[in-house]
Amino acid sequence: TIGLIALDLSGSITVGVSTSGAPFKSPGRVGDSPLPGCGLYADHTVGAAAATGDGDKIMCYCPSFHVVQLMRQGSSPNEACHAVLANIQRRIGVDKCFEIGLISLNMKGEVGAASSVEFPYTFWSQGLSSVEELVINQQKSINV
Ligand code: ASP
Repeated sequence: TIGLIALDLSGSITVGVSTSGAPFKSPGRVGDSPLPGCGLYADHTVGAAAATGDGDKIMCYCPSFHVVQLMRQGSSPNEACHAVLANIQRRIGVDKCFEIGLISLNMKGEVGAASSVEFPYTFWSQGLSSVEELVINQQKSINV
């Protein structure tokens, strides 16, 4: 998956997700990527989130919607991603957690991410001379 969240200077936010599909996918498989709330979600009053990983499992948790809801309730993007991952891990066990990576951005331009596996992502904002490349280590989240 490539997940992309963009916030422009006029306060419009958008999220898009492409999917690699999944290895050995069954005919007609949709996966999480195109499903609002699962692979992606945006609300211009709050922010947006995107997910990557094992889509058939991700679909069961609506994690992108959950991240945005937590941001609506006051969580930072990073706190929200981390809380959603922790919630899934609590429910199924950390050791049994499937592959899932989450990114998010709020309307202030703050970003967050969390992942059950090592997961790279990039960030750019006006004023940065180049794109920052960041890697989340397993089960950790980072602040930018
Ligand atoms: N989430 C995608 C899917 O299951 C796989 C991917 O990460 O590209 O469709």
